[in-house]
Amino acid sequence: MTIAMTVAAIIEKAALDQRRDSARALRKPRSTGRLLKMAARALERADQTAQDVAAVLPPPQPIACGPGCPYCCHIRVTASAPEVLLVLSHIAQTWDEAATLALKRKVKNIDGLTRGLNDDERAKLRLPCPLLKDGSCAVHAVRPLSCRGLASVDLNACKTAYASHMAEGVPLYEPQYQAANAVGYGLYAGLVDTGFAVENIELVAALAIGLENSDIAASWLRGENPFTRAQS
Ligand code: SF4
Repeated sequence: MTIAMTVAAIIEKAALDQRRDSARALRKPRSTGRLLKMAARALERADQTAQDVAAVLPPPQPIACGPGCPYCCHIRVTASAPEVLLVLSHIAQTWDEAATLALKRKVKNIDGLTRGLNDDERAKLRLPCPLLKDGSCAVHAVRPLSCRGLASVDLNACKTAYASHMAEGVPLYEPQYQAANAVGYGLYAGLVDTGFAVENIELVAALAIGLENSDIAASWLRGENPFTRAQS
């Protein structure tokens, strides 16, 4: 088997495993606990798949991403509902009242300026993700798959891309992007298998909705589509 075939097999298995896992977690009777654990496993699976792929096909240069590097956290981010619900649950469980209130204000301001904008319009504004704190992701452990998939191999290119409002590209370690995407597709397929709609949700709009609704995970499980206004 060639390296390319091995990489493809690893990525395909991750998608299939995630599809089965998502469908199993969302079978009736449904619970928010099982939903959130499934979302957390999806994130772990994406990380593990990226590691497995890197063992076979290492990046051409070391991955440049790390704490205190905020350049890509100014673009429009989308995620599935379970991923967003996991971020909201993490905030509810680990942030104190003052920090949550400050986040609500920040989210409201940024959402007011960005709701409905496409990737290019959002890049021109170059507003930071409201979850960016002191140059690092404040929800790093539960950041969405789309954030995990972006692995730059050139920090200077990231700085140039940031300065150009993302007009300049960034060389990514493509297999990591594919791994995160594959797990995302598997997650979505599991949702479809269990009767849920596929929703690609814009993160800031979803946070604005979710931070004002402590029952949002249960509401989503009941099929009430609470993120309709955040769909991209
Ligand atoms: S969720 Fe975290 S990693 Fe993703 S854009 Fe926001 S701050 Fe950056």
